[in-house]
Amino acid sequence: MISVAEAQRLVLDLVQTTAEKESLPLLDATGRTLSQDIEAPFPLPRFDTSGMDGFAVYSGDLNRCSPNEPVELELSGETPAGAEPHGLLKTGCAVRVFTGSPLPQGANAVVMQEDCEIDEPNCRVRIHERARPWENVRLKGEDIDAGSVVLKRGEMVNPVSIGLFRSLGLQSLAVSKNPRVGLLSTGNELREPGEQMEPGSIFESNSHSLAALLRAQPFPYEIGEIVRDDLPSIKNVFSKAFEKNDFLLTTGGASVGRYDRVQEAFLELGGKVHFWKVSVKPGKPLIFGTLGPAFFFGLPGNPVSALVTFLLFVRPALLKFAGRSRPLPQRIAVRAGEKFENSESRTHYVRVRLNEAGCCVRSGLQASHILSGLAESMGVGEVPSGKIISPGETIEVIAWCPM
Ligand code: AMP
Ligand code: MG
Repeated sequence: MISVAEAQRLVLDLVQTTAEKESLPLLDATGRTLSQDIEAPFPLPRFDTSGMDGFAVYSGDLNRCSPNEPVELELSGETPAGAEPHGLLKTGCAVRVFTGSPLPQGANAVVMQEDCEIDEPNCRVRIHERARPWENVRLKGEDIDAGSVVLKRGEMVNPVSIGLFRSLGLQSLAVSKNPRVGLLSTGNELREPGEQMEPGSIFESNSHSLAALLRAQPFPYEIGEIVRDDLPSIKNVFSKAFEKNDFLLTTGGASVGRYDRVQEAFLELGGKVHFWKVSVKPGKPLIFGTLGPAFFFGLPGNPVSALVTFLLFVRPALLKFAGRSRPLPQRIAVRAGEKFENSESRTHYVRVRLNEAGCCVRSGLQASHILSGLAESMGVGEVPSGKIISPGETIEVIAWCPM
């Protein structure tokens, strides 16, 4: 059995980034991976801007002012946000400005309105506070220099970065093509809602849990018919699915039982198995293979095993295909709110949630068929073999949903 890290390395060595790219409108590119660096076409802010409602001044004019001895300046005009900047500011003068107004040339500070008394009829303003040079001014380019890279190729288009791209006047982004993913469930016991249930039948759920995780990426997918546990059926459905998809994910039939025929079918179709069984709990009987240009993951049937192996191995593979420069799951270091112990040789992934104190605790029972704790869980906590994590120590958590 290979380790989690070794299995991840094998997967990421074999899966290569697609050369296909597409250009998408900004909002549609959310969650996708950039296929080229984004450079700022101009600086942000684009011009020296007032950071306050107040008066643009030359700070030297206020050197002698104090709350008791205000300095009086001549009000030489007003520049609302969106207006052209006022002409050169003369000494002894001030221009009324607002948050976002362009600063007049010659001004090097803005005094906030609350520190001023305005005498509009006489075009005068009395100022009670000194101003440091560049106080309340947003300098041109202080946020982003013209020509600088704001997001690198291989990074995810984060929802909160869309506003930045809009501010740079961008309407579309170049992103990598998404992988085509096929989802198949295997098992004689599996039924769709609405189908006749017999003694021994259960409702199929894995295809939909995996589809939901793919949607969160977002990666497109196609759910195929439920496959019975016999070699001809499996081979028939598999061969059609491999023609259409870059990745085929199956659940069930991956272990050593008499009806676990998935690996045999895959091999008979000409597939090459790169590994079978990983030292992980849950999720041990994972199969990873290639057939022509397509990648195959035979996930275990137990619902939590399917989720955990998706998180640890499948999602990184899909992200690598889609061009992500750091495809492995991000780990968040969280303070443990209870003891976690692993005296076995496999790495454990424990469903966890945050308690009221923001500490990491188990979310329900942990067997691989137990569904009840999933709804409340944020992800899985990693407990390496032979390790005890005491309350107050750090546990590394991998979130279900992308970050
Ligand atoms: P298997 O890996 O085929 O031995 O299945 C392990 C367990 O997971 C069995 O209890 C199956 O009934 C269950 N199982 C397999 N596939 C699914 C599925 N698609 N949806 C829900 N449960 C499943
Ligand atoms: Mg089965």
